[in-house]
Amino acid sequence: MASTEYDAIVVGARCAGSPTAMLLARHGYRVLVVDRATFPSDTISTHLVQPPGVAALSRWGLLDRLVTTGCPPINAYAFNFGTATITGAPGNAESPVAYAPRRIVLDQLLVDAAAEAGAELREGFSVEEVLVEESRVVGIRGRSRGGRPVTERARVVVGADGLHSLVARMVRPAQYHDKPKLLCGYYTYWSGLPMDGRFENYIRPSRGWGAAPTHDDLTLVVGGWPYAEFAANKDDVEGSYLRMFALAPEFDERIHAARREARFVGTAVPNYLRKPYGPGWALVGDAGCNKDFITAQGISDAFQDAELCATALGQTFSGDRPFDQAMADYHSTRDERVLPMYEFTTQLATLEPPPAELQHLIGAMHGNQPAMDAFARLNAGVTSPADFFSDANVQSIFASAS
Ligand SMILES: Cc1cc2nc3c(=O)[nH]c(=O)nc-3n(C[C@H](O)[C@H](O)[C@H](O)COP(=O)(O)OP(=O)(O)OC[C@H]3O[C@@H](n4cnc5c(N)ncnc54)[C@H](O)[C@@H]3O)c2cc1C
Repeated sequence: MASTEYDAIVVGARCAGSPTAMLLARHGYRVLVVDRATFPSDTISTHLVQPPGVAALSRWGLLDRLVTTGCPPINAYAFNFGTATITGAPGNAESPVAYAPRRIVLDQLLVDAAAEAGAELREGFSVEEVLVEESRVVGIRGRSRGGRPVTERARVVVGADGLHSLVARMVRPAQYHDKPKLLCGYYTYWSGLPMDGRFENYIRPSRGWGAAPTHDDLTLVVGGWPYAEFAANKDDVEGSYLRMFALAPEFDERIHAARREARFVGTAVPNYLRKPYGPGWALVGDAGCNKDFITAQGISDAFQDAELCATALGQTFSGDRPFDQAMADYHSTRDERVLPMYEFTTQLATLEPPPAELQHLIGAMHGNQPAMDAFARLNAGVTSPADFFSDANVQSIFASAS
């Protein structure tokens, strides 16, 4: 690789981009990280950070900073299926708890950490084009608000630019396991809805919602319906959202006693995986793999991509491994980890009733605390669906029940 001004230019400075920039900069690489947003700023996303994401923050020395923002820890996940509620601990020894920090807080913390590590941060800078020379990405062209176009060059351009990634649009990676938008979700914040360290989920036919405690004594409540109902409900989001709670009368009573403190925000997203590297470019976070938010994996996955990608790029920059070899490892490790959860997530996002076998399993788990903890860990992304639904584990749950 020829020596150019930056080792890496990272496009996008939120959950995937800032950690990638931070980790590379901590190793002494010259990194430019740009975002068209300025910080602090919010983005359309709820924000449950699962225990593996919390563990990443801890490894990076950033967890204490999050804790001091006053975000309450979440140490129990409860899944209310109507017939039974499965309540378990989502974490493991590496990270026993989850948090649901507001993105305006979390993203600022990540941006600051990247800048502190020595990455050059350019906020309010929009990338308009990826520069390609001899079939290889060599830099970007973009501009600050109201500014003239500027060109920056790097050995690698990392697309951490989210769902509508410009980098991905320009490099046209292979895309696979595509699934359409499956559900539409809407969220807002409530005061007077105490959660006592619990993340509650309610699963009903064609409806599902979750409630998690966040900053300022507020509770995030996100819920939704199948994407097929988007058009029918879009003109009465509030009514459709509130009517859903009648399917769980106790929760309905609690939320009626609470007060809504923000407007509704909602969206629906497609599901895909993309090859995350090619000549002179890489993808991390939603730019490389997106899945429905029903299982709240995106932030943790973005963190794990950042670690894997920064490790692989570090190996190439130092000359230890050829780019293609190191990045192929990033690709295969990501897919191996993500794919079982991707399938589980896209199944849940249909909001179809759980298949009969799962309903039997839920019945068998009820009251068996180790099994309920394992179910919470499954949904937290700590235990792979491949392990949880293995014959041995399922048989052991049924054996304990009988
Ligand atoms: C409704 C909803 C709820 C969700 N809830 C959860 C949840 O509870 N838990 C969870 O873990 N995940 C959740 N997710 C998923 C999560 O939001 C994403 O997975 C996560 O934000 C991905 O981070 P990212 O850095 O890849 O992308 P983003 O957070 O989207 O950041 C991309 C950044 O790139 C910048 N950018 C884009 N294009 C350009 C350009 N051309 N030039 C400069 N900058 C650019 C943008 O300004 C943006 O700041 C949810 C998603 C949605 C939509």
